[in-house]
Amino acid sequence: MPAWSKNYQVPRDWPHRRNSVLKRAGHQCEVVVDGVRCPNVATQVDHVVNVAEGGGHDLSNLAAICVPHHAVKSKGEAARGRARAPRERRDPEKHPGLL
Ligand SMILES: [Zn+2]
Repeated sequence: MPAWSKNYQVPRDWPHRRNSVLKRAGHQCEVVVDGVRCPNVATQVDHVVNVAEGGGHDLSNLAAICVPHHAVKSKGEAARGRARAPRERRDPEKHPGLL
């Protein structure tokens, strides 16, 4: 569990909301890339605006999502959550031509 999700709580009727979102999406991932909707079967429900970033649990903030896309999105959110922490040390490489 990432630290930012320590206080993560879902509403009591989460399973119901989750089912509603999946049903609304026709059990298809709602992620759109380059105007094309992901064809994968959605088995998870994602917060469009992450809870840690102020998003709610309303159906309007929920979207059906496939496992790979959820993994990608969660990774990005975790990265943003760490944004204020010292970054990984990686000195910029100087281009030999600019020396
Ligand atoms: Zn997807």
